[in-house]
Amino acid sequence: MEQGVHHDRALEIALGKPLEKNVETIQFNQANGRVLANPLSSHVDDPRFDNSAMDGFAVRASDCKEGPTILTIVGVSQAGGEHPPAIGPGQACRIMTGAPMPSGADAIVMVEDTQTDQDRVTVLGPARTGYIRRRAENLAKGQEALPAGATLTSAALALAGTMGHGQVEVVKRPKIAILSTGDELVPPGTELAPGQIYESNSHALASLVESMGCLAMRHESVADSMDELRATLVRLSECDAILTSGGVSMGEWDHVRKIMEEEGDIAFWKMRIRPGGPPLFGTWRGTPLFGLPGNPVSSLVVFHVLVAPWIARSLGYHPELGPRISRRVSVMLEEDILGAPRKLCLRRIRIRSENGKLLATTHTHQGSGNMHSMVAHNGLTLLPPDTDGRAGEIIEAIWLL
Ligand code: AMP
Ligand code: MG
Repeated sequence: MEQGVHHDRALEIALGKPLEKNVETIQFNQANGRVLANPLSSHVDDPRFDNSAMDGFAVRASDCKEGPTILTIVGVSQAGGEHPPAIGPGQACRIMTGAPMPSGADAIVMVEDTQTDQDRVTVLGPARTGYIRRRAENLAKGQEALPAGATLTSAALALAGTMGHGQVEVVKRPKIAILSTGDELVPPGTELAPGQIYESNSHALASLVESMGCLAMRHESVADSMDELRATLVRLSECDAILTSGGVSMGEWDHVRKIMEEEGDIAFWKMRIRPGGPPLFGTWRGTPLFGLPGNPVSSLVVFHVLVAPWIARSLGYHPELGPRISRRVSVMLEEDILGAPRKLCLRRIRIRSENGKLLATTHTHQGSGNMHSMVAHNGLTLLPPDTDGRAGEIIEAIWLL
């Protein structure tokens, strides 16, 4: 077991026991928000044929070089309609947006630049070849357009549809168990006895797990008892990974650490970060387990800096196009911010964009029990160990999305 590891090392150790990546094929209309397991290539040229970008008339540019020209209308080309007749010199074909170009035509005049009188059209404006959308100008058949690990967002879904995919191969959602521990915890909405508090971490962790494309198997909290914890962990070890919160510090009642020491396998305990120092990672009967701190802010911060990248890397998420709950950015501090001795300091900051810069300020009390600070702020500093931040300085940060 390694103890007191740096952030990078913690992730490296955890990736030694990655989440297993499985693949399933699903119907395209069920694929919203899922993550592609393999790249997608186009089944078709896009556009499939030369077509008009405007409602107007398909013409021969050479007919429309000078002044108003009168042309004879020989047919109409509609999107999804029959193939239009060819046009010859002095002729034009009415055309709608997306409709195929008639052969013989090499330019489009917008309807706004014409006057029509029965079967004749007077061309008053320019005839433009630029109003033709060329076959395959967006994508050629066989061309790869969506990489593995991309999330099927609105635009990616529309692109998969454009390319003709009726089914897609996606990453199977791993089941991630979430278990809070603590004698003091009761569900929100119930009567509080003396000493009890409302349990909140499991709900936040479940939300984060879902936004990482996984299934959250949230369990009601368990008391600080080895027997109860063991029985629950045995059941949860059917899941692909387990996240616990609480019980990983030095306290007499920190049973997650104890049970992992005695009956599990701990790969590391404690990280050199603030907040969120006490997490552990290991396996419980073969299942990867992150023991997150109980302090509400700490549990979320450790998820952001450790669990989220572990999920993303294990499942091959694309760094730009995959599920995203945070993004590395450079921000300019508007005030001095204290770092931490020998620890990466993850202070909560509010990031806003102003005059072409990302500016960062702090607002509330930064205690690791103050969940309000995670809502009042939207980012975390990445101040290296023993380094304070000064007003006006540009530092690395995480923007929580
Ligand atoms: P622990 O890590 O178990 O020592 O817990 C640290 C602090 O976080 C204590 O004040 C706990 O009451 C609090 N805490 C632990 N788990 C939760 C939870 N699931 N929801 C809210 N607060 C918690
Ligand atoms: Mg506890």
